[in-house]
Amino acid sequence: MVLREEVFSRLCLEPVNGRGSAGELSSIDPNDGAELARVRKMSRAEYDAVVVRAEQAFRLWRHVPAPVRGNLVREIAAELRACKAELGALVTLEVGKILAEGEGEVQEMIDIADFAVGLSRQLYGKTMHSERPGHRMYEQWHPLGPVGVVSAFNFPVAVWAWNAMLAAVCGDTVVWKPSPRTPLTAIAVQTICERVMRRLGHSDVFQVVIGDNDVVGEAMLDDRRLPLLSFTGSCAVGRHVAQRVSARLGRSLLELGGNNALIVMDDADLDLAMRAIVFGAVGTAGQRCTSTRRVLLQRGIASEMTRRLIAAYQQIRIGNPMEPATLMGPLISPQAVDQMISGLDLARAQGGQVLYGGNHLGGNFVEPALVRAPAGMPLLREEIFAPILYLLEFDHLDDAIAQHNNVPQGLSSAIFTRDVRSAETFLSHGGSDCGIANVNLGTSGAEIGGAFGGEKDTGGGREAGSDSWQAYMRRQTNTMNWSDQLPLAQGIDFSF
Ligand code: NAD
Repeated sequence: MVLREEVFSRLCLEPVNGRGSAGELSSIDPNDGAELARVRKMSRAEYDAVVVRAEQAFRLWRHVPAPVRGNLVREIAAELRACKAELGALVTLEVGKILAEGEGEVQEMIDIADFAVGLSRQLYGKTMHSERPGHRMYEQWHPLGPVGVVSAFNFPVAVWAWNAMLAAVCGDTVVWKPSPRTPLTAIAVQTICERVMRRLGHSDVFQVVIGDNDVVGEAMLDDRRLPLLSFTGSCAVGRHVAQRVSARLGRSLLELGGNNALIVMDDADLDLAMRAIVFGAVGTAGQRCTSTRRVLLQRGIASEMTRRLIAAYQQIRIGNPMEPATLMGPLISPQAVDQMISGLDLARAQGGQVLYGGNHLGGNFVEPALVRAPAGMPLLREEIFAPILYLLEFDHLDDAIAQHNNVPQGLSSAIFTRDVRSAETFLSHGGSDCGIANVNLGTSGAEIGGAFGGEKDTGGGREAGSDSWQAYMRRQTNTMNWSDQLPLAQGIDFSF
């Protein structure tokens, strides 16, 4: 088993004893409630000083050629490769996800960094044919400015990397506010960035601000010096963020809650479906935005799948996430446990039947729960950030798709089928209404190469691969007249 002290010493962090003061945040190990470290909270004045430095750094950084900017990101990726095990273990310590997933999160940082390095030579603009003779039209992408990143607890470092690695090659500087639950991982990442920035002679491209939501968080929402605010978190906070940022006509990039469903057709490969469902629902203790929360089973396989799911849930090894054999660690906090328990009570009151699990095992540990739910149960529309999986049944695909889409969120979705017609129906414009729709794989565990994000209450933002980089730049349309005439567009005659 990896030891807490070992991780700390390899990442040069100091463990603490005693309780935090009012001016400090405590980082708590969800496995045993121990205080891992105390971090001083920033004041409003300190926050302002950070943004001033981000502005100053931006004025220099935007002139560094993009492929040279890519070199900074390449070096960060090299450092991340070197400390993947230690940083992954720190994610496990602070968030409680199992070691394999902690390391997977660091791998995701490395992947997006590699992607961004390649991108640094591909920030392409289009050229267009002008309707006027002797004119050339094209568009350029310019750096935007200091970008604010507010991240959620459950992906404490990967989501920062999705934003920061792209923003950096695009010529932006980054001001990052991590979740107050995960200050340590943020400090470890910032320490790596500082080392690389110093070595390559750049400063303040990446900065971190740690503090209260009403001091540092609110300040970022209203701060006109941050033209883009990238926010990852719950729909409720995201709605507030969107309103505040749009009130100053700023841009927001929203990655909000999910309520992801997976459809299993009678003709599906049930072994594949089983593995995808269990990882999707139980992985990260159900605390992923893409966690599978609803499974829609076609009537012919419903009882077999239910039986197999109960058997699989009995095999889940719950315990200390630092033990390599553990499959499910703790929830993040006692409040998260309470939300799961009261969610299950509400499900029962609304006609749901708990088929397996849902018991509190002490501390932040719970059994994952399987709940048979009647179609239209009001609770099905809500994201409870815990391992509760609702099982529903249907006869026809049309009905399954209607149930699937009947939630406010629209992040990730999947269907298991061997029938190309069912697969294509699910992927067609009358099918899944989510930002991510998969066939014969689960709802969670996206690769960074695609654009990641969701529709409806999930906020519409897209991060990571494909053309998501465009969110971090401003587009400029240029028309160059190389003739000795001044023809007007639309053929307008304005001779005088
Ligand atoms: P949360 O909404 O409680 O907090 C998210 C972040 O917002 C934290 O950094 C928090 O400190 C900050 N915040 C809270 N109030 C603020 C305010 N007034 N001003 C500025 N910042 C404020 O979410 P959480 O519990 O940390 O994370 C879980 C949620 O995040 C789930 O809903 C999950 O689905 C969602 N999530 C979405 C994605 C995605 O990509 N779509 C990824 C990860 C998590």
